[in-house]
Amino acid sequence: MIKEVNLRVLPVDAANEQAIRNVVSRETGESEDRIRAVRILRKSIDARQRTVFINLKVRVFIDEEPTDELFDLVTYPDVSGAQQAVVVGAGPAGLFAALRLIELGVRPIVLERGKNVHERKRDIALISRQHRVDGESNYCFGEGGAGAFSDGKLFTRSKKRGSVDKILRVLCQHGASTSILIDAHPHIGTDKLPRVIEIIRRRIELCGGEVRFGTRVDGFLFQAGKVVGVQTAGGEEVSGPVILATGHSARDIYRYLYQSKIALEPKGIAIGVRLEHPQKLIDQIQYHSPDGRGEYLPAAEYNFVTQVKGRGVYSFCMCPGGFVVPSASGAEQVVVNGMSPSTRGSRWANAAMVVEIRPEDCPQMLSRKNSTYAPGSVLGLMGLQEYLEKQAWIEGGKTQVAPAQRMADFVKGRLSKNLPSTSYTPGLISSGLHEWLPPFVARRLQEGFLDFGRKSHGFLTNEALLIAIETRTSAPVRIPRDPLNFHHLEIEGLYPCGEGAGYAGGIVSAAMDGEKCAEALVGNLRK
Ligand SMILES: Cc1cc2nc3c(=O)[nH]c(=O)nc-3n(C[C@H](O)[C@H](O)[C@H](O)COP(=O)(O)OP(=O)(O)OC[C@H]3O[C@@H](n4cnc5c(N)ncnc54)[C@H](O)[C@@H]3O)c2cc1C
Repeated sequence: MIKEVNLRVLPVDAANEQAIRNVVSRETGESEDRIRAVRILRKSIDARQRTVFINLKVRVFIDEEPTDELFDLVTYPDVSGAQQAVVVGAGPAGLFAALRLIELGVRPIVLERGKNVHERKRDIALISRQHRVDGESNYCFGEGGAGAFSDGKLFTRSKKRGSVDKILRVLCQHGASTSILIDAHPHIGTDKLPRVIEIIRRRIELCGGEVRFGTRVDGFLFQAGKVVGVQTAGGEEVSGPVILATGHSARDIYRYLYQSKIALEPKGIAIGVRLEHPQKLIDQIQYHSPDGRGEYLPAAEYNFVTQVKGRGVYSFCMCPGGFVVPSASGAEQVVVNGMSPSTRGSRWANAAMVVEIRPEDCPQMLSRKNSTYAPGSVLGLMGLQEYLEKQAWIEGGKTQVAPAQRMADFVKGRLSKNLPSTSYTPGLISSGLHEWLPPFVARRLQEGFLDFGRKSHGFLTNEALLIAIETRTSAPVRIPRDPLNFHHLEIEGLYPCGEGAGYAGGIVSAAMDGEKCAEALVGNLRK
């Protein structure tokens, strides 16, 4: 007999198999010797009350051995001789599009401007050590895309549980820990994710697909108004329908589309800073204990949201036990983001703290310089991102040193005399962010922080640090799609995909969109 049971246990018991069996026996009324196995299906932390509990959903095997597999494996056929499709970009959207094309019998040719994930590590180290950003290989560009060196958070707000589970299962099939199938807030960690990405690439190649690095796509090939392939920076032409999964930092692609008069739509983004606290402080606050998280709880997370003067102010992409990283993708920019190792064991907790910006919020100062950036214009918010990233670079002394300010000082509008220790290795410089961030961002962040401080005692503190600037929260434009066929609204053969096209925000949703685009492409090929 198999039973599924929900349990609520203390963290110390959740970490002990025998303790869980005892609770299961008590809850089900079955004697322990009849319980052959207990499999955890779902695990979440309930820290709303003073005593923290772990909620578990378990499958109990009574008088029978567990037979079911942990997850079903996807079958990938050999597509060496099959019809081909071009996938531009090897981020989560591109890689999962390629895997799905293979599943459906189409041969993917993946073209990636950056290097493989292994070589990319060296370029990333150089950003911190020498303040040199390689425009083709950095935290945003290269195999695995923007999420390769990240927290590897796999949490998504998507309600399509089936599709989410499929992405998680495919990641497990390619080496990710099966804990991601269980945890309510799954994550892989920057130390483990590159290996998973490499195994996915090998799968694509083993099945007869291709992955070419150092191959930047600069334009499309057209025939009778349809996209029939791409032109690379090296002058090569690669033919096939095109899945365009170039991410939110490929500004050259947005400019190419704009100049080629391919329809784009303005889209809102969010802009702000990375906020870094000592992790111990966040543990104390979230777990209501001066001792912090103790032995059995993970590094605590937080999530804040409020409205200030008609715009959302919220935390985003939290990295418990993580590091703030320099994630510029070109020269004369300072951009920050966050990542964590699988253990989430660093001394710091960081998260983006951002203000919602709509296309009409684009300041007049940009449009005075260039009419492309007028309020509401298609590339207006991209212009704002570029402007602020350059401003941060200037404030930081024209290196990857980032401008920073203590949290309470920022709220009070005073310069920080000194800065606390940080995980951001290129270095920090004290800067009056309250003065140079656009007032519609700075004022809202100040009010938002006051609100978060009221909701969570101890959160608003000078022990915490604001590091500027966080601008790459999502794509500043949407590339419109035909709602039925998923190709570009006006152009057949071109499938805008993932975060860069404005249809995803995060690793899992980008991967899901990659799958959807591949399915639509194959469906249209077979019509
Ligand atoms: C440091 C960091 C940490 C993050 N942490 C998380 C996290 O923990 N969880 C989460 O869900 N999300 C996280 N994100 C966001 C997440 O990485 C993105 O949402 C996701 O990667 C988007 O996937 P994508 O495939 O659409 O685009 P991308 O991942 O941006 O991939 C686009 C790819 O296209 C390539 N490319 C661009 N232009 C061209 C061209 N012209 N020719 C050929 N190739 C091109 C790029 O090199 C890149 O590899 C993080 C992002 C960063 C930068």
